[in-house]
Amino acid sequence: MRQTLVLNASYEPLSTVSLRRAVVLVMQRKALVEHAHPGLRVRAAAVDMPVPQVIRLRRFVKVPFRQRAPWSRRGVLVRDRHRCAYCGRRATTIDHVVPRSQGGGDTWLNTVAACAEDNHRKANRTPAQAGMRMLAPPFEPTPADALLLAVGAQDGDALPDWLAVTGAGALPEAASA
Ligand SMILES: [Zn+2]
Repeated sequence: MRQTLVLNASYEPLSTVSLRRAVVLVMQRKALVEHAHPGLRVRAAAVDMPVPQVIRLRRFVKVPFRQRAPWSRRGVLVRDRHRCAYCGRRATTIDHVVPRSQGGGDTWLNTVAACAEDNHRKANRTPAQAGMRMLAPPFEPTPADALLLAVGAQDGDALPDWLAVTGAGALPEAASA
């Protein structure tokens, strides 16, 4: 997987992110391209730009990924890439795996992104009680998730998971997060 190095505004290296997420940060004007692969370009529906090897944040951020990122609803949607944990379609709501009415809390491991339909169907039940299966269990945010949250970037709903990389000698390459 092609990774891009992220520098803070102060040039301090922070993390690596997937190419897809690097493109999101640049497109949303959260970061500048410092170095690009010569001759290679990223192409997708609304994107045509050099393939970034190194990007630098426009504003200095205190990045929380040495500690645990604080839980938030937006954070859960970013972590889960706005995909429903039950059906994989676009998610706009947060589901408590163990409902709050049964003692479940606002934690990373007890919340998932869910589409409104599945959230409504599951109601105040656990997945087992509702006869529903999660596609993957919830997890603590990765450093790349924490970085997106820290800089306030949206996770690029408009971008495909796979970005085409074109240019001399380019091989089709994955850019998953
Ligand atoms: Zn769903």
